[in-house]
Amino acid sequence: MHGNRFSRMNASWTMRLMDVALRYHEVVDEIATVDHELPPAPGEDEHLSLALANSVIALPGGHFIDHLGTPDAANRWLTERDLAPVDSGMRDMCASQLRSLREQVRALFAARVSALPAIPAALSSINDALTRVPTAPLLQWDDKAGPYRAAPHPTTQIVDHALATLAADAADLLTSDEADRLTACGSAPCTRFLVRRGRRTWCSTRCGDRARAARAYARRTGRDTP
Ligand SMILES: [Zn+2]
Repeated sequence: MHGNRFSRMNASWTMRLMDVALRYHEVVDEIATVDHELPPAPGEDEHLSLALANSVIALPGGHFIDHLGTPDAANRWLTERDLAPVDSGMRDMCASQLRSLREQVRALFAARVSALPAIPAALSSINDALTRVPTAPLLQWDDKAGPYRAAPHPTTQIVDHALATLAADAADLLTSDEADRLTACGSAPCTRFLVRRGRRTWCSTRCGDRARAARAYARRTGRDTP
């Protein structure tokens, strides 16, 4: 009898553990596919700076996907936008410069969206990047072959050029007519920005669905989101 109850308990625990394991895999799959399926937010195709601002994606459950998280990922991100050749020799420093510009662009976008003053440090970072035009190839002198011109650090040039292009785009967007339609996606935990078209304030259908589900849940239970 004891044995019976014991095995029933065991069975029920096993079921529960299987449930948890199954749910875990669903969540992991969800995380793996969410980003894959998330299309660019409206405006990203036209504005590289918006794509930069949205290059870190917040997922439900406190997870993040950072497309500039490693030098390789940053290189890929730049290559996809014609801002760097494949295998351009990115280092940690380069990826970190891009992430830092992203934070400043995000700060300025957030300020514009909420009609707040800009953070001076964010402004000067953008302006620093803007004026960081590619340096001219320097005059070099080879003992045998004689004088020639070459960039001392091609990767630095590539990154500086990318930073300047991204900063220029942010400056253009913030001073264009479209700035009035710059919006933060209203579906927590998403932190993407978009250029609003029509009345849609979500960056994607997925975010819109989640926001509607959260509202329905709040209505049903009289509580906030689960
Ligand atoms: Zn969103």
